[in-house]
Amino acid sequence: MKIDGTPAVVTGGASGLGEATARALAAKGAKVAIFDRDIEKGEKVAAEIGGIFCEVDVTSDEKVAAAFEKARTAHGQERILVNCAGVANAVKTVGKDKATGELKRYPMHQFELAIGINLVGTFRCIANSAYGMVSAEPMEDGERGVIINTASVAAQDGQIGQAAYSASKGGVLGMALPIARDLMNDGVRVNTILPGVFKTPMVAMMPPNVQDALGAQVPFPKRLGMPEEYARLACFIVENVYLNAEAIRLDGGIRMAPR
Ligand code: NAD
Repeated sequence: MKIDGTPAVVTGGASGLGEATARALAAKGAKVAIFDRDIEKGEKVAAEIGGIFCEVDVTSDEKVAAAFEKARTAHGQERILVNCAGVANAVKTVGKDKATGELKRYPMHQFELAIGINLVGTFRCIANSAYGMVSAEPMEDGERGVIINTASVAAQDGQIGQAAYSASKGGVLGMALPIARDLMNDGVRVNTILPGVFKTPMVAMMPPNVQDALGAQVPFPKRLGMPEEYARLACFIVENVYLNAEAIRLDGGIRMAPR
């Protein structure tokens, strides 16, 4: 799909991977709508790239529908949807409280939070967007739209404290193929990116020595991923009509790290 002049929606576009993707799409001429719950950052990025900002909480049916309505009124039917809105909430299944040493169980609300935002929120945005995409006129190659979802290598690799996050991202990966089947006859492609550890505000919450250690584990190039590297892959997927129903790990080969 040609990016220049094409309406695009990037959820989580106020920060990190979504922000870099919004910037990259805008630099290639897309009409970008940033969907995020962070109003201050979202408006700032939108202004810098000549796009629009739509306040949204992906856990709300009403807010998601209203955000798509606003984006379509400004730019027309989106043909590109990149789902990046997400949270990382690592909590061990059982673990000792740092202060008291007391053994504690996993707080269930944390599990439900990850599923609600990362999995159900992603599906909510896909469902809203896909309805409009399949109803729209076909473009070049008969294509009507392209959807990119952000899972994580956590969907495939078990890491300590990641049950909720991995389940949510495993869900994003698991629903991708059925959704691709649902939409392929109408010319809508669905692909999934599984990032390793990227240098974004989500990861900046970790102490610097932990970030350095995570980077050093990457077989090559022995550093964290950069958001621009994610954005380049997202643009590559949009521009390649032959890339469909695929899940791509973007992780510096972390599976090959010595154990
Ligand atoms: P980030 O925190 O920098 O950006 C996430 C954005 O999503 C923020 O702007 C936030 O406001 C928004 N958001 C969160 N909850 C929302 C909600 N309910 N409604 C609307 N917006 C909401 O994080 P990031 O690192 O750029 O992560 C982007 C995506 O990539 C996430 O889905 C994350 O799980 C995934 N991911 C990140 C990494 C990494 O290492 N950074 C690795 C694998 C996967």
